[in-house]
Amino acid sequence: MERAIVKGSPAQMLNHPWVYSGNLVECKAEKGASVEVYSKSGVFLGSAIYNPESSIALRFYSRKRDKLDYYAIKERIILADGKRKRYFTEPYYRIVFSESDMLPGLIIDRYGNGFVLQINSYGMEIRRSEIVKALYDVFQPDFIVERSSGYSRRLEGLKENSGVLMNESGLDLTRVIVAEGGLKYYVDLLKGQKTGFYYDQRRNREIIENYISGGIVMDLFSYVGAFTLRALRKANKVFAVDISEESITLLKENVKFNGFSEDRIIVEVKDAFDFLEEVGSLKLKFDFIIMDPPSFAKRGRDVESAIASYIELVSKGIDILENKGQMAIFSCSNYIKWEHFASVLQRGTRSTGRSFSILDYMYQDFRDHRVPTNFPEAEYLRGYIIKEDI
Ligand code: SAH
Repeated sequence: MERAIVKGSPAQMLNHPWVYSGNLVECKAEKGASVEVYSKSGVFLGSAIYNPESSIALRFYSRKRDKLDYYAIKERIILADGKRKRYFTEPYYRIVFSESDMLPGLIIDRYGNGFVLQINSYGMEIRRSEIVKALYDVFQPDFIVERSSGYSRRLEGLKENSGVLMNESGLDLTRVIVAEGGLKYYVDLLKGQKTGFYYDQRRNREIIENYISGGIVMDLFSYVGAFTLRALRKANKVFAVDISEESITLLKENVKFNGFSEDRIIVEVKDAFDFLEEVGSLKLKFDFIIMDPPSFAKRGRDVESAIASYIELVSKGIDILENKGQMAIFSCSNYIKWEHFASVLQRGTRSTGRSFSILDYMYQDFRDHRVPTNFPEAEYLRGYIIKEDI
């Protein structure tokens, strides 16, 4: 393997999986190659994949002298599954979460005995066939789908890439079933968002369900209705709004699939901000409002505008919140920290003249969306439940 020389404190470099391009002193390897990383003073720091075109020049996948070949990938997949499966009685969870599993830039979600992968780094891009072979040899899966898209791919100089890599089962991959919390969901693994289903919200769905008791619930940014169905078990009526028509179609199918009466659900395909304006003038009020928008801050420099959007959601949400109502709001960007989000609540509630308290904090289900203590960047999902006091 070629060598890379980096500057900076070896102790720090040993304790974080990235080296930024500004800290790279020398590396003659090809893009995507595995390299042995050394400090300027000659301390060996580990093995990493190299991308000269990314601001993250080196991504460590081992602290030893290891290649990242079929065997190494297979071993890491087995380890990653072993870390998780004890927590889940059913095979629906994220099995590989990138740096958290020493497979930087690779995400794999599990749908029964099928898998959806998302490749976010050049190093993984050129190892696709080893990844697929390793997954195949470990699980003999029914299907493997790739859904590689999104901002982080662009930062690595990669284009979108989606498709069915194998489907020996012949299953209809636009209607794959996920089981969670005693409910069943159809998800579309070919055209749905991200890798198909948001496993990261699993525990928050339970938390929110426990706070709902009768009344009318609003599920804004509903996607295929994961929160909606939870709410249907506890509330009298549920509204669901999403900008994507495909998502709302699936949501309606999911309502039926679980045997809920369609009279208790009202759906709308609409921009959430427009919806809040319109419903505000109708004087309709909700007892519980859930807002789980897409990431508003993909880069550090988006933080201010993201905060402004969250403030708008909170204050407009409160306009349609019943007296003593509850509201859950999420952010799924690592750049929006708890202190930003606390300030969103403070500023978003201020103009309303009503007083609210925090009932709960929420975060990604850490059991499968693991956060290594030396990689706080892996923590990205944050949420609050607030309630009007009087
Ligand atoms: N709560 C869902 C996940 C929500 S993902 C769950 O737990 O499964 C975010 C959703 O917001 C996506 O379904 C996307 O279609 C929708 N969305 C994005 N922009 C929107 C907008 N401006 N208005 C309404 N929905 C939007």
